[in-house]
Amino acid sequence: MSYREWFDAHGLKHAAIMAKLTHLTDEEVIEYFRFENMVEKEPDFCPLYAQKQKCHDTEELNCYLCACPNFRFNEGGFAQEGGRTLFSTCSINSPDGDRYVSETAIHQNCAGCIVPHRESYIRKLFNRDWFAIMREVPCE
Ligand code: SF4
Repeated sequence: MSYREWFDAHGLKHAAIMAKLTHLTDEEVIEYFRFENMVEKEPDFCPLYAQKQKCHDTEELNCYLCACPNFRFNEGGFAQEGGRTLFSTCSINSPDGDRYVSETAIHQNCAGCIVPHRESYIRKLFNRDWFAIMREVPCE
């Protein structure tokens, strides 16, 4: 699955959940997206939920901003670096971010970064429209 396909499909899943939560306050919506509640109520939102597995090893994990509004991808590549195509980056150069480097490609590696999973961060950017928060992520 391409970045774009995942992005569009995930945004639609997010929107479908939000359509059920119109009776909740913003704070209640954020609470709803806590990992423990999502595993139970929205098992199809993330493939890791089936094994009750977190994408990041952290006690408090909130899934509202999966993916991350700071992620940038370009299916055609942003640039060539040392014979490899750079397909994705972090717009804030998070010190906890990293890169996957293969023979031909470079991808942003967010495995060590929990910036978008913190509720204080989600409150700062909160919008009920996931695509609006993520509008700068696709760079095509
Ligand atoms: S490194 Fe962190 S802030 Fe940067 S795109 Fe990945 S999750 Fe977002």
